[in-house]
Amino acid sequence: MKLECPYCNTDLIEGFIDSGRYSFKWHEKNMNLIEKFTVFGGEVLSSSPKVLCYRCKNCNKIIIDLNEIP
Ligand SMILES: [Zn+2]
Repeated sequence: MKLECPYCNTDLIEGFIDSGRYSFKWHEKNMNLIEKFTVFGGEVLSSSPKVLCYRCKNCNKIIIDLNEIP
């Protein structure tokens, strides 16, 4: 799949990032006090330590596809 960067329109490079043996976890910037305790440790985003990505080397951004890598 050919994608362009939504910021600068450069062609994105397909690849993956690898978290080693840990899963990727989401932490929302503006968590309220209750969430800080209930979502402690973060929301697991992917069952796999590898996630498919599209990287823009021009503006140094990565778009992550959290679906399983086929
Ligand atoms: Zn870009």
